[in-house]
Amino acid sequence: MEKFEIIIVGAGPAGLRAAKVLAEAGKKVIVLEKNPVVGPKICAGGAFPKIFQQGIPEGLIERKFNLIKTHLSGRTYNIKSRDYLLATVDRRNLGQWMAKEAEKAGAKILTNSQVISIEKDKVILKNSQTFYFDYLIGADGGASLVRKYLNLPIRFALCYQYTLLQPFENLEVFYEPKLFGAGYGWIFPYKNFTKIGCGSDLKFHNGNQLKENFHSWLKKMGINYEGSELEGQIINYEYRGYQFGNIFLIGEAGGFVSGLSGAGIYPGLISGQEIAKRILNPKYRPKITSMLISQKFQEKVLDVLNLNRTLMEYFFKIMTLYLFFSTVLFNLFKKPFSKR
Ligand SMILES: Cc1cc2nc3c(=O)[nH]c(=O)nc-3n(C[C@H](O)[C@H](O)[C@H](O)COP(=O)(O)OP(=O)(O)OC[C@H]3O[C@@H](n4cnc5c(N)ncnc54)[C@H](O)[C@@H]3O)c2cc1C
Repeated sequence: MEKFEIIIVGAGPAGLRAAKVLAEAGKKVIVLEKNPVVGPKICAGGAFPKIFQQGIPEGLIERKFNLIKTHLSGRTYNIKSRDYLLATVDRRNLGQWMAKEAEKAGAKILTNSQVISIEKDKVILKNSQTFYFDYLIGADGGASLVRKYLNLPIRFALCYQYTLLQPFENLEVFYEPKLFGAGYGWIFPYKNFTKIGCGSDLKFHNGNQLKENFHSWLKKMGINYEGSELEGQIINYEYRGYQFGNIFLIGEAGGFVSGLSGAGIYPGLISGQEIAKRILNPKYRPKITSMLISQKFQEKVLDVLNLNRTLMEYFFKIMTLYLFFSTVLFNLFKKPFSKR
């Protein structure tokens, strides 16, 4: 039986970033991770450039993409930029790097340590070990046990994905409302493999239907997934607050994810960092307001889109055209502006 000032459940980007911030401030902090290795996670690994402005080194990038091929209603829109628009990052490498940073700062990370029960001031692991805490942080992802303990609901998108051992050339996104509702399909290439998947918030079908649609889409595309393992995972994007007495929720456990794109690495980093600062100083106001406003807006958009498939088609068209023209304009005007 050991006591820590702060126990963090889950060693994803959110938990590891919080651990680093808290340990740097001299707190006695432990991260409990159920998996034997920190990092691997069912994820497409798409990383926007802003992630690398948060202390994550660009050296972790597998591939950078200046072009996103966006498919909608049988047409392809090439969204192009001089600078890269999206990169891919191997989650194992990202997790290992972040774990080292947290440990360097003084945090303790315990793998093979699944939390199975939470009580007022302690957590109990599957191997019967017990740890006491002053503060508990739930950073345990979409199916968070800490969130369940707090009796908070989730709202989720379901995703299916294959990892194919062949590198594709282009990063591609597919809006197919009939197959994926308000979600989308993706091809995210790495150096030696490619993640191909789809996600949807299931308003128009159930999980089995989505799986069937995914496979018929792969067939239509002529993509052979024989020999690869189908992975399935939810993404929770229901935000209900981050502080509940001495318990905090960060990352996907707290619903910090974009409902429209499913991107959760960046919100995980920011919520982990900002809420850790709040624990250090109860007067600190976490800088998450603009992220939350954008998320709430996306949730409302999803509610409206889910009323009608035709609406979805129009919305995706407008969004794609907006991205297309804004990158064209950005490319045209970037040079003169940056010369100033
Ligand atoms: C198929 C798919 C594709 C995605 N693609 C992208 C993408 O391209 N870009 C992007 O930005 N986001 C993507 N996401 C979302 C992104 O993966 C998550 O939002 C992000 O990882 C959340 O970070 P986190 O630290 O909150 O949680 P996680 O990364 O989920 O980490 C939670 C950790 O907690 C551990 N854990 C869980 N329960 C327990 C327990 N009881 N005890 C101990 N440990 C526990 C888990 O093992 C895990 O290591 C994708 C998600 C899915 C499902």
